[in-house]
Amino acid sequence: MSLKTLIAGAGMAACLAAGPAAATTSAPAANPLLAPWSGPFGGVPPFDQAKVEHLQPGLEAGMAEQLAEIDRITANPEPATFDNTIAALERAGRTLDRVSTVYGIYSSTLNDEAVQAVEREMAPRLAAFQDQVTQNEKLFERIAAVYEAREKSGLTAEQQRLTWLYYTNFVRAGAKLDPAAKKQLSEINQKLATLFTKFGQNVLADENDGQLVIENEADLAGLPESVRAGAAQVAEARGLKGKWVVANTRSSVEPFITYAERRDLRENAWRMFVNRGDNGGATDNNAIIGEILALRAQRAKLLGYETHAHWRLENAMAKNPERAMELMEAVWTPAVARVREEVADMQAIADKEGAGIKIEPWDYRYYAEKVRKDKYDLDETQVTPYMQLENLREGMFYMAKELFGFHFKPVDPAKVSVYHPDVRVWEVNDAAGKLVGLWYFDPYARKGKRSGAWMNAYRPQERFDGEVRTIVSNNSNFVKGSPGEPVLISWKDAETLFHEFGHALHGLSSNVNYPSVAGTRVARDYVEFPSQVLEHWLATPEILDRYALHYQTGKPIPKDLVEKIKRADTFNQGFDTIEYLSSALIDMKLHLAGAQTIDADKFERETLTALGMPTEIVMRHRTPQFMHVFSGDGYSAGYYSYLWSDTLTADAWEAFTEAGGPWDKAVAKRLRENVFSVGNTIDPADGYRAFRGRDAGIDALMRKRGFPVPTAATPAAGKSK
Ligand SMILES: [Zn+2]
Repeated sequence: MSLKTLIAGAGMAACLAAGPAAATTSAPAANPLLAPWSGPFGGVPPFDQAKVEHLQPGLEAGMAEQLAEIDRITANPEPATFDNTIAALERAGRTLDRVSTVYGIYSSTLNDEAVQAVEREMAPRLAAFQDQVTQNEKLFERIAAVYEAREKSGLTAEQQRLTWLYYTNFVRAGAKLDPAAKKQLSEINQKLATLFTKFGQNVLADENDGQLVIENEADLAGLPESVRAGAAQVAEARGLKGKWVVANTRSSVEPFITYAERRDLRENAWRMFVNRGDNGGATDNNAIIGEILALRAQRAKLLGYETHAHWRLENAMAKNPERAMELMEAVWTPAVARVREEVADMQAIADKEGAGIKIEPWDYRYYAEKVRKDKYDLDETQVTPYMQLENLREGMFYMAKELFGFHFKPVDPAKVSVYHPDVRVWEVNDAAGKLVGLWYFDPYARKGKRSGAWMNAYRPQERFDGEVRTIVSNNSNFVKGSPGEPVLISWKDAETLFHEFGHALHGLSSNVNYPSVAGTRVARDYVEFPSQVLEHWLATPEILDRYALHYQTGKPIPKDLVEKIKRADTFNQGFDTIEYLSSALIDMKLHLAGAQTIDADKFERETLTALGMPTEIVMRHRTPQFMHVFSGDGYSAGYYSYLWSDTLTADAWEAFTEAGGPWDKAVAKRLRENVFSVGNTIDPADGYRAFRGRDAGIDALMRKRGFPVPTAATPAAGKSK
């Protein structure tokens, strides 16, 4: 009975934690979602038979089954043991796990009116179900008994840690509260679940409905061919053939405001995007944010924590908000200083051109490109023709083979069904030819799909009751090109592609016994480390020479262009860091504010002013659209995780560069054995130390971003206390 999580990219939507809740409605006779998955590879999801109308009865039947299983566990007259309690819980809830997987896929990638109705109905009921499980007194007594005896009952280290996880998760969810407090807690959780759903649906509505229609080709001035073609495709898909549409998503808006010469249109696109969830009317999220924050503060208090942030971080690698804040503040000041330099460079170019403007947020990306050209002689549009999505995917497979010994082979579409024609499936085998798992790839944007990029484990690896192979997926929102044309992506998108694939490899490398500690089911501020570290391999000559091939000539990307990319490596890091860090700081400060009524709009404005936020940059995720934080609890008080993980990432990459380079077999082996394969069977700080021989400091992070390396003692993410 494990919680399912979507691992979100830094740019992306949200973690969707579908909790396992009370059921009454009876399922129709033949609900295809209820049966164990059949077919090849140890069974695959029955997408060919699944329908929206199966979701709700499937979830209801899954919850009922799990409650019956828990009743059997608690009715056992034998004293509690690891096997009859913890392992039995790992065995339980399998139907709900499978249905939740399909439900999660519909929610995040096929979200329409019908799915939204199911979400509204089921979100509070799933939350109540979760509470019903964690508040079950007899069950908690048994878990506590196994926990108390864990060190003297002959358990393996993995079993001890799993027992500790169950125990602390139950306590943190209120298992020790008195009945009245438990009831109150459950009411809060149900209200929150409803608000999370509403928040997410509002953002999606603004993304679906917002669009910038361009009627005249002249208004496309400055846009590269691939961006024009993408905008024409979107227009056609929306019944506006012959025009161009900038959709209200990051993958449509960012290229537009990077290249469009028409400043007024850049401003329009920018305003449309940064105001998602903040437009007044039915889809406005401001009031919802206030309610969510108040309920979270109440819940934290009920559970005995100072604030929601303290509750969330207790079992993270950072352990407490103070350490997370310390790291963020250490990076903030040098990043702001860098932004000042970047803006000065941009302003100088604008002045030289006689633009007669002051750099505004809708100018930043546009003028940054001009500076890049000026300073590094590097033009992003020269790079994009070499960035063919399908070739880069092959490049990722090459990386997986070299570092992990994995071989990817396309699966015959007749053998494994998919939920949308754009989705493709590969089987993954190890060097000995043994099946490791399946990889589903859903690359393109479409209506009803959340923006951003993310990884999802449909089925975690496990072997305590027999070998179960994992199924993982990567999802992104590339703009589909014209039929038959290769899809060209930006350098940044290519990094994101490698990032999400890193999560997939984390899942595929899993080598544990129990599903609750498998693959990516690790602390939130550790989970981005394996994915971030693999971003580094994109820029290696081995990948670029073989896979970054020009879409027309087939020639590899020229060496001097690669050199320029490398020289410009820390370019615009002021912008990237502040854009991200402002969101991370607002997230943490909102959740450290405690029980006070918060006006989200005012809080955001005043906090940013107090921080000295450069006016030329806007938060990567403004509060009314901050899906990471308000469409679920997953990344709440947790957006700092990307920086925390990046501290490890930068330090880990230096382990390679200090040794034989990116393809050093010995370092790769240590990384696999201590990080990628161990899941949550060990403390992440111990795993990191075993890989690196020491804790991570902040120095490598500062070098990676091109900021001055501090001389005094600085906070270190790798330390466990
Ligand atoms: Zn990620």
